[in-house]
Amino acid sequence: QVSLLSNQRSLTATTLDGTRITLMANIEFPQEAEHCIQRGSDGVGLYRTEFLYVGKSTDPTESDHFDAYMTVLRILGPEQPVTIRTLDLGADKFSNLPWAPPAEKNPFLGLRSVRLCLRNLTLFKTQMRAILRASAFGNVRILFPMVSTLLELRQCKMILSEVKEDLEEEGIAFQRNIPVGTMIEVPSAALIANNLAREVDFFSLGTNDLVQYTLAADRNNEHVASLNNPADPAVLRLLKMVIDSARNAKIQANVCGEMSGDPLYTQLLLGLGYRQLSVTPHNIPEIKKLIRSVTLSDAEQVAQDALQLETARDVTNYLREQMRKIL
Ligand code: PEP
Ligand code: MG
Repeated sequence: QVSLLSNQRSLTATTLDGTRITLMANIEFPQEAEHCIQRGSDGVGLYRTEFLYVGKSTDPTESDHFDAYMTVLRILGPEQPVTIRTLDLGADKFSNLPWAPPAEKNPFLGLRSVRLCLRNLTLFKTQMRAILRASAFGNVRILFPMVSTLLELRQCKMILSEVKEDLEEEGIAFQRNIPVGTMIEVPSAALIANNLAREVDFFSLGTNDLVQYTLAADRNNEHVASLNNPADPAVLRLLKMVIDSARNAKIQANVCGEMSGDPLYTQLLLGLGYRQLSVTPHNIPEIKKLIRSVTLSDAEQVAQDALQLETARDVTNYLREQMRKIL
């Protein structure tokens, strides 16, 4: 493992036939930025910001946010992308803060994520101000989670414009053209990806939620774990729709759920057309090694074949067989 680490760090994630894949890291705490460097990532594809709220008795201030973002930017330097996701609280990510949503009967279908932030604009704007201020110091991208309708995305973008105007009036520096992305992690968003693609700079596919909502199988419930399967043909079709929409609109699409860190799916995702993957830092060397062992033309054939299969079991068996051929 140690030698794989040091051998892989300086190599790029390039397929055998020369296509450069952007292999980024998912982080949950600022200190993890060090692991991104150690493992040779191409930046941060997903910076979860829930840690600023979970287990805290008071709301983080704008400077708490700013400091957390600057820690990562200082470690990664000004070039590497750092994708900061706005607060994704609710469902399985609880907070005891006074404004947190009351206990809900169906928290995964309730007031979580941007739904919560759009009801608490002070909180939303505080975070946006810090993200925008940090954007003056590096390659920062802002990402909205759990968007399920076009209007919701437009509301988020409108708030962002208001915050930009405020900063401008105050003479505070920020990146005016900060790239704006939406997570695609709700089936409704995947189905209207062509419309969403016209209004953002990039997509980030949250397959953990996308799989659970598509199959109606709780990602944390062991009794339905066999249904919660990224290899399900329904998931594959959505992934294909989304990448087709992204490519038509000429925007980037990054896969950042657990699926992208599982080597079983690397060929499939590349073959479908994805050129950006974001995985936990730990998985970077293994996924990079795999990317460097496949050709895009083989991967495209794998994706085409997998899309024809009728059950998750068939897809899994087929992908295992294909993986054995390259390892
Ligand atoms: C996802 O849903 O796949 C995702 C990346 O977001 P989270 O796991 O934080 O819900
Ligand atoms: Mg999610």
